Amino acid sequence: QMAFLQQWADVSPDAMIVADANGLIVHWNPAAESMFGLPAEEALGTSLDVIIPEPMRGAHAKGMERLLAGGQPRIVGTVLEVTAQHSDGSHFPIEMSLSMWTQEGEARFGAIVRDVSKRRANDDRLHHLAHFDQLTLLPNRTSFLENLNNALGQSVQSTVLLVDLDRFKEVNDQLGHAAGDAVLIEAALRIRRCVPTGMANVARLGSDKFSILLTGETDPSRAGALATVVRRELRRPFDLAGRLVWVGCSIGIGMSPSHGDDAATLIGSADLALYEAKAEGGDGQRSFVPALKTAAVARRSLEIDLREAWEARQFEVFYQPQIRLEDRQVVGAEALLRWRHPERGLLAPGAFLSTLENSSLAAPVGTWVLEAACRQGAAWNRQASGFLMGVNLFGAQLKTVPLTETVRSTLSLTQFPARQLELEITENIMLADDECAKDQLNALHDMGVGLAFDDFGTGYASLAFLKQFPITRLKIDRSFVSNVRAKGSDAAIVQAVLMLARKFGLSVIAEGVETEEQEKLLKKWRCPHAQGYLYGKPVAATAFAISSAFPHNRPSSDPMRK
Ligand code: C2E
Ligand code: CA
Ligand code: CA
Repeated sequence: QMAFLQQWADVSPDAMIVADANGLIVHWNPAAESMFGLPAEEALGTSLDVIIPEPMRGAHAKGMERLLAGGQPRIVGTVLEVTAQHSDGSHFPIEMSLSMWTQEGEARFGAIVRDVSKRRANDDRLHHLAHFDQLTLLPNRTSFLENLNNALGQSVQSTVLLVDLDRFKEVNDQLGHAAGDAVLIEAALRIRRCVPTGMANVARLGSDKFSILLTGETDPSRAGALATVVRRELRRPFDLAGRLVWVGCSIGIGMSPSHGDDAATLIGSADLALYEAKAEGGDGQRSFVPALKTAAVARRSLEIDLREAWEARQFEVFYQPQIRLEDRQVVGAEALLRWRHPERGLLAPGAFLSTLENSSLAAPVGTWVLEAACRQGAAWNRQASGFLMGVNLFGAQLKTVPLTETVRSTLSLTQFPARQLELEITENIMLADDECAKDQLNALHDMGVGLAFDDFGTGYASLAFLKQFPITRLKIDRSFVSNVRAKGSDAAIVQAVLMLARKFGLSVIAEGVETEEQEKLLKKWRCPHAQGYLYGKPVAATAFAISSAFPHNRPSSDPMRK
């Protein structure tokens, strides 16, 4: 029977070790040899201390003494997870089960030892994969939620800061994903550097969104101050192998328990605050206030109302005349959307446009406006040949529908000439910088359709777009026209735009002309066209007056079309 046990010990993958009452090793199997790097001839007769890390030796000796004195075997029969020492001095985790017996009147201690370092490493790796973002090495959404739930579960005051990068999408789209990754890694480092260690947890929630969890901090001004520091850090340029890019971020803040005492509500509150910070143009920070919740509910109900309005055909198109400054002749119109609301009356886009723009209705409504305007343009063109029609585009029309095809079929359906249609786009649409959008606009240009740069001068990258897009006309923004004096900065801007247009071979129209004085200046500076209350407010088609002296058969060197 002993021979059988011996054989068993020889083939066991677990180390089997027996020591006598003095703690000297009396049995040492082959698995023990390889596990501890110690051959049997060296192990036998030496103290068990060779496999016990120094700090644990005292406790081990005491335990043996107690057992020998007949004490209760506290650890015998259970599986222990402890640390063992290899003959090279390194430590590794083991699982060990102990037993004690008497052999020929002498006490014996037996241990079966399993090396669990591989399993540990695997567990650690799985834990790491499940809890950390592999790009930035920050904790991920799962760990953030675990930490937040823990803190809230123990009623520890928790403040959530949601940090969303402002211009990340542009970096990714324009410079490629490698550049995007580099920005995220650097942003993660910067955010972590802003946060006092031990005070807070930084995590990456996904794409370009990060979170900071501050616990036990009841002073709201501390979270605000932290947000300010983070924004300042992310505002600094990112150096991508010598190329500088500016990113920036917006931050929303929610605090427990007043903004939510469970994770979902608290994060929702911080998210609404973030939405607000973003809506204000970025590089901002906002704390949650109950009014944000009300506004979100209102937005949602407005979206539903818009859908009903669309079904019930409550949208209308109004037209505002565009005139030639030389003789105040009406040469065209801009189509402007209106909502005939059953209770609130006639609504201008200010009341609903931002919601409409971001809803799935944008493309169908935009297509509908285009068709209505072309149909109307064709009718007026029969009374006044050469009549121009301007139509505003939603970003969605360039993204979700094949705009070129829509325009082509609308023109042929309504019999409106391509040369007399002018699509108006704002810088925001161009900023989306979608190659497909550019291709579509180029195709439209080739068809002869005009492209006006709306609200020109209010953005910050306007000049670059002049080169990239097939623009045919600049619309000088109302804000410059309405304050224009003979001298001053607005006068300088208006004159500069007029000069720029001449150099680029573009036509120009001044928007928002309300006074004779403004008109006089524009004429003096040789601005060809204008639009504004001075000549007519936007009105329904039936109220729109085309002057009888409308110029027929304009020469082909029409200044509005270059
Ligand atoms: P916008 O394209 O800049 O249109 C000009 C806006 O200025 C119009 O406001 C017009 O009523 C107003 N306006 C014109 N002349 C004067 C003036 O002398 N004084 C003042 N104070 N205002 C003047 P509206 O109709 O409220 O439209 C606002 C914006 O909504 C438009 O700005 C345009 O961006 C957008 N929008 C309107 N209709 C459509 C549409 O069918 N599709 C798209 N995508 N956007 C539209
Ligand atoms: Ca416009
Ligand atoms: Ca405009």
